[in-house]
Amino acid sequence: MADDSKEEDNIPAARALEDISCCARCVLRLLGERDISLYVNPQEKDVKRTCVACLGILEKSNGNTYIDKIQSSVTDAEHQFENFMFTISLPHSVILRQSPFKISLDFTYEDGKKELEFLNYESSKSRPRQRRKRQKYDPVTVTAAGVKKACAELTTVNLLKRVADCPPKSAQSPSELSEITCSHDSIHIAGRYNKYSRALSQTPWIINNVRHCESSVEEKICDLITAKVKPDDHKFASAGREDIDVRMLGYGRPFLVEFINPRVTRLSRPLFADLQKEINSSSADIAVRDLQQVTKEQCLFLKDAETNKTKTYKALIWTEEEVSQEQLQKLANEKDLKIFQKTPLRVLHRRPLAVRERYIYNMTPELIDSHYFNLFLKTQAGTYVKEFVHGDFGRTKPSLGDLLKTETDILQLDVESVDVDWPPRTEETDELKNSS
Ligand SMILES: [Zn+2]
Repeated sequence: MADDSKEEDNIPAARALEDISCCARCVLRLLGERDISLYVNPQEKDVKRTCVACLGILEKSNGNTYIDKIQSSVTDAEHQFENFMFTISLPHSVILRQSPFKISLDFTYEDGKKELEFLNYESSKSRPRQRRKRQKYDPVTVTAAGVKKACAELTTVNLLKRVADCPPKSAQSPSELSEITCSHDSIHIAGRYNKYSRALSQTPWIINNVRHCESSVEEKICDLITAKVKPDDHKFASAGREDIDVRMLGYGRPFLVEFINPRVTRLSRPLFADLQKEINSSSADIAVRDLQQVTKEQCLFLKDAETNKTKTYKALIWTEEEVSQEQLQKLANEKDLKIFQKTPLRVLHRRPLAVRERYIYNMTPELIDSHYFNLFLKTQAGTYVKEFVHGDFGRTKPSLGDLLKTETDILQLDVESVDVDWPPRTEETDELKNSS
């Protein structure tokens, strides 16, 4: 390392890598050491555990064992050869343990197309004669395994000479490094959102390329993060979703965004705090909190929460006939009410037809006047609240109308809470709460 201060910076990182049992060579390569001479004889501590990164393949203590083994295997094989090609195949687990940033090189050799044309002939040998002529060489379908397999069948020099030049002709042009691809594993950002608008969809609402809603919760959150993270693409997910005309209040709904092939991957706490402020000041329709980076493993919590969570709602109800305080008290007495919901008409185009059993855990009515009241409900995940209120032409049984023995309709709906303890609360949010 040319720069002394950089070397000092690396000491804690090197220790941390040693502590999780990285071998000396892996410590060097993971810190990005480019001086190849340092790898020859690195200072290795008494590592008792196998290196977590290379699974022992690069460990100095194994070096001589490998060389001895290779030497004796080659000697025992008794081949005559003037030169050799050296190939290595690593355990697939090593891939999992590698850096999230990958540089892939793709070499192509123009004359190779001609050279490998015999593959068609070979592979169509068993096919009827008339089909053989129509076969065209397609470089896209050629795989390394296919070439190896075809070569394995060329067991004598005479067989080889039928399809290729032996020794090979000199190349007309060198191989070309035709493609270099840089990619980074996805990063995941989680948080909770509130939606204060009754005219904002959760995700972009576009049918046949026509936009039906100017923006969306997803865009209001992701556009600003995308500008910082610079990914190729992103995927938005949340613990359930609310309709366009439903507000999401309380502590908010957990969401998760996967950013695919991100350019910026090291996001500090202060950066998240700034991002959060930026998103919150950009629109009065939404707010985010607990914005943070999460690991892939942590993302599984959201999937779990999707099915196990409970939700609380506040609904504004209208009744055709007058309702009394006594009638409403009956609703308050209902606990763990079991209802059966046939897939609502309004979602039939995207959900399979089924009857789902759901629970309304409790209801707390608040009379406004003889035809209007607020109803607070705590329900199981996946309950269609609007349908529970108006009955969906008898598709939900019992409905609120059945219980009150009158026609009922829902005028407004707010989600008061999505009871999922994920993602973890952050300091910035506590500050936000204290200041508001
Ligand atoms: Zn190692």
